[in-house]
Amino acid sequence: MMSVKKIGIILDDDFGSKHIPPYPKPSFISFEHPFRINCILNHLERIGIFQDIRIVKVKPKEIGDEILELAHSKYHIEAIRKISNIGGGLIDDEVFVTEDTFDLAQKAVGGAIEAIEGVINNSFTQSFALIRPPGHHAYREKSSGLCIFNNIANSILYLRKMLSYDKKIAIIDIDDHFGDGIAQYFYHDPSVLYFSLHEFDFTEGDIGMVDELGQDEGIGKNINFPVPEGLTNEDFDYCLDLLEPILHEFQPALIIVAAGFDMYYADPIGNCSLTSSAYNHFAAKILRIAEELCDGRISFVLEGGYDVIGLPYCVEAVLKALLNEKYEPPVYEKDALLLGESKIEDLKKIKNMLTRLLSPYWEHL
Ligand SMILES: [Zn+2]
Repeated sequence: MMSVKKIGIILDDDFGSKHIPPYPKPSFISFEHPFRINCILNHLERIGIFQDIRIVKVKPKEIGDEILELAHSKYHIEAIRKISNIGGGLIDDEVFVTEDTFDLAQKAVGGAIEAIEGVINNSFTQSFALIRPPGHHAYREKSSGLCIFNNIANSILYLRKMLSYDKKIAIIDIDDHFGDGIAQYFYHDPSVLYFSLHEFDFTEGDIGMVDELGQDEGIGKNINFPVPEGLTNEDFDYCLDLLEPILHEFQPALIIVAAGFDMYYADPIGNCSLTSSAYNHFAAKILRIAEELCDGRISFVLEGGYDVIGLPYCVEAVLKALLNEKYEPPVYEKDALLLGESKIEDLKKIKNMLTRLLSPYWEHL
């Protein structure tokens, strides 16, 4: 085990200045803004986190088309490049492209790769890629839901194909939305466990259903935990308890967290009721499990999270857990704790259903 803690934070000024959404008025796409990164970095500077000798600032890996092509069709890559070259435009209601989107989306993939490669080659014990645009909705052939390229899936395919890294990898997706893009890449792959906790519309129906378990050899390795809106800190913790026996049985060599913070109570897109402390407890729990299973190897890769006041605290909450330091939530969150009512009874039913569906594929469930 590596004795010296070193946390790599992957940064680049471009994430705080490029790929600016159109802003006719506040809307879904306008929230995926460079301010997200600037607010996180201002806050981390203000609390002195970069003075800690265990924190290292790292640049994204420079990559070219040959790396993007591991995860995306040439058609998709060319389409994004061409739309950027003509100055950008809307792909649909949920994806915008600007003149610098191609470069930034490519850099985001390079950022995720740097974070993950650095952890497997022991340059850092843990890492956090503070990148945008997010990636977990992007498919091989198309962009979707604010995502251009699939940062995490592309990183894993890079490890597999360029580094011949064949060890098991667990992805834990805590973004408010189902990471349909990541799920489709590994739906048949028994070497990648995908666990997603996501808000789900039980009335109208939604994506990321509980009985999508994976296929062929990958069956049982896609785990969707849909939750109702209004999820509280206590509920979040309750749902994640399901992970521990699964991770122990799966024995990953690396854990990647698709770190979306849009379950935060003040998020303008998500409808859940978490405070930043929920992410602190989550990160502490995953760190403990990772230390038991895989020398503490965890990479956090930023996905969603659009409340620019709360997002910096959520990132701080994760880093403090990784540093084994006490996290003090902002005073204003005290009122937020009164917001949500626990949904434990509903969640018990979902958890029981999931356990029943998964039990043929997991001995310890
Ligand atoms: Zn999201």
